[in-house]
Amino acid sequence: MKIKYNFDVLPFSCSLQLMLVFDKIAAFKDHLNQYSKGSIIGFVPTMGALHEGHLHLVSEAKKSCNIVVVSIFVNPLQFNNSSDFDKYPITIEKDKALLEEIKCDLLFIPNATEIYSQKTRLKFDFGTLEQVMEGKFRPGHFNGVAIVLSKLFHIVSPTIVYFGQKDFQQCAVVKTLIEDLSFNMKMITVPTVREASGLAMSSRNQRLSQEGLSKASSIFAGLSQGMQVLKETRNKTKTKEQIQKIVEAACIEVEYIEIADPKTLLPADTDLRQMVICFAGFLEGVRLIDNIVVDL
Ligand code: AMP
Repeated sequence: MKIKYNFDVLPFSCSLQLMLVFDKIAAFKDHLNQYSKGSIIGFVPTMGALHEGHLHLVSEAKKSCNIVVVSIFVNPLQFNNSSDFDKYPITIEKDKALLEEIKCDLLFIPNATEIYSQKTRLKFDFGTLEQVMEGKFRPGHFNGVAIVLSKLFHIVSPTIVYFGQKDFQQCAVVKTLIEDLSFNMKMITVPTVREASGLAMSSRNQRLSQEGLSKASSIFAGLSQGMQVLKETRNKTKTKEQIQKIVEAACIEVEYIEIADPKTLLPADTDLRQMVICFAGFLEGVRLIDNIVVDL
């Protein structure tokens, strides 16, 4: 356990809230057992390289919870591509400073040996939820997500967990995980935080060049125009073509564009009142995802 501030040097009037940092499960659980009885614990699991999207989740948690816990763990089990894992940005010191500034209470930052002290034998199967989009293109991804979140949920025992709508399919998987395994916690989905250009904030954006960042904004431009086409025509093919045209003009290679039922994530029937358009593609070797919910 590391305590960031030296109490001896703080003036009496100082009202600094201290963020405690833990890297060991046992010490972290001991602390929670000792100090969190009766508290509303908000939990924001992350893979670090924090940006305003993550910080917005923490701010939302602070509104409703007495104790806010953030975890940073780049989970090897959810990467189906080892080079994506190797290149995942790591900015621990900056992350800590950002979390301290926003007055996060507890940071849990274990290493892989701590989380995976033994090989996980269990496998999750989310059925059709993971046979489409991210599940289809990243085999094993949601199994890895569900394994690590189950472990983290048991370690933190949160009252409320916060997830970003940017990872729309992940939210559906986490909802299923919580319901099916009776995790005693509420889940809140927070809208996607975007750059002024419309680009969804993402840790992976750090790997883009300036030019790439500007090109990547055409993903949200494409989704927004696609939404208009869908509203006007209800024609899924025309909608996808419109989005594809816009993103390909910015040299983005499309992996998928799907128009789905937000509840099942299966292809949307044309008479639905709400649909979600989900996108994944590559720019400068970086995989980017985004989505937009369309009310019809
Ligand atoms: P990650 O570190 O990418 O695993 O993300 C941790 C959490 O932050 C997940 O619940 C994400 O959905 C959420 N998140 C990531 N980017 C954004 C964003 N731009 N706006 C809102 N939430 C986000």
